[in-house]
Amino acid sequence: MRFHITGQRLHDKGRQVFVYDNETNTLSDASGQVFSSGGCEAHAGKHTPVVPFSPEEPLRKSKRIRTLKIQLGLSCNYACDYCSQRFVEHAPETSRKDIEAFIDRLGNLEFNEARGLKIEFWGGEPLVYWKTLVPLKEALDLYFAGWEKKPVYSMITNGSLLNREIVQWLVENEFIVAMSHDGPGQAVRGPDPLDDDITRSAVRSLYRQLRPRGRFSFNAMLNQSNYGRREIYEWFVAFTGDPSVPLGEGSVIDAYDEGGTGNSLATKADHFAFRRRAFNDVFANDGQIGFGGILGKVDGFTTGVLTHRPASSLGQKCGMDKPGNIAIDLRGNVITCQNVSASEVAKNGAPHLGGNIEKIEEVELKSATHWRNRANCAACPVLHLCKGSCMYLQGEYWDVSCANSYSDNIALFALSFEKMTGYIPVLIDAPGLPDDRRDIFGTEMEHIERPRRKMIPIVAV
Ligand code: SF4
Ligand code: SF4
Repeated sequence: MRFHITGQRLHDKGRQVFVYDNETNTLSDASGQVFSSGGCEAHAGKHTPVVPFSPEEPLRKSKRIRTLKIQLGLSCNYACDYCSQRFVEHAPETSRKDIEAFIDRLGNLEFNEARGLKIEFWGGEPLVYWKTLVPLKEALDLYFAGWEKKPVYSMITNGSLLNREIVQWLVENEFIVAMSHDGPGQAVRGPDPLDDDITRSAVRSLYRQLRPRGRFSFNAMLNQSNYGRREIYEWFVAFTGDPSVPLGEGSVIDAYDEGGTGNSLATKADHFAFRRRAFNDVFANDGQIGFGGILGKVDGFTTGVLTHRPASSLGQKCGMDKPGNIAIDLRGNVITCQNVSASEVAKNGAPHLGGNIEKIEEVELKSATHWRNRANCAACPVLHLCKGSCMYLQGEYWDVSCANSYSDNIALFALSFEKMTGYIPVLIDAPGLPDDRRDIFGTEMEHIERPRRKMIPIVAV
């Protein structure tokens, strides 16, 4: 799809219309000159095409594993308001008794030291599973004892269960740890573990030990009430005293249930205000926002455009469509991703359970849909940044997540566009693109709000 994009210079308000093609991922100016880098020829023809999947042509998995996500169970000591796992049906719990059979089943997969291996431990809250986690890690150490280049172990935790013993274990076992925390907006998510003196001291201790080795980040998500990346960054600088505090995630939430919908950008005015803030936070602060992954996304998109990386090589945003990235539980069940369970049915009515690693060649995930098989993604200007949002969402939650993702990514698109052209994009022309998506910052058109859906919170008594 070709988009005619009007850009405006900041200093003299001069305008020019550019053409962006999201299929070839090329950008050209009014004279037809295509923006390219020297690497373009080097990359030509080297982009591996992906195979689009759908419930009818299900996603399959390879034996050759690069990332192994071990789902320990969905239990958590918190119930965060917009957690993607909040209403997922739990599979029957596993325990340390399942470890021996689990390690035996790993023999059905192929791991390669030279290729490298990442092993991620997932909950719920993974530290709830401490009694399983410790012997499981020991069993994996034995399994890969012959490797000089050890697997890279990581986990994402809410941090609330950290104490001196666990901190020491994570450090000794060379974990990469990300702690989910929304900084100034933590109250929207749920309780704040940093309110507790012992936990706060344990978090600081872990930070001091892992941060110098590049093994710690705070992961913050953006939502309707907490979307200033610069403000979040300043909160973490104050907490750590570290101006280069590493912040992960940093995207606007997807909506997996009513809680996620209620915390999403709701009105057109909300979307425009968010886009302006997200653009200015980076543009006006010289990129000083701490979220390295977000800045890397802008740079990655810029490189993709300048080297003309085509849409045919684009996978999904989370990478769980890659054949070598696999999420399994301790029974060897292969599931769509780490955020679901073998007992849960996906929003499209298909099970999240795709098979077992004992018969990896028969695994079929009918729960997921590639962006190419979605109604609007191929005609979307931010396709290369969004990559089709979550591959298993459907219906109204998909619609809300798509809208959040559009606003999130159009601001990053604008930052990249400005870097390449010197013009800030303000208006996109393309058949079928709604006005509130065409008008990037809400400055070019009048917009009439649709009546806002009223959210009635369910209060447990
Ligand atoms: S913003 Fe929506 S339409 Fe665009 S690529 Fe993402 S999910 Fe698809
Ligand atoms: S499929 Fe990907 S984007 Fe969706 S919940 Fe799982 S990891 Fe997240």
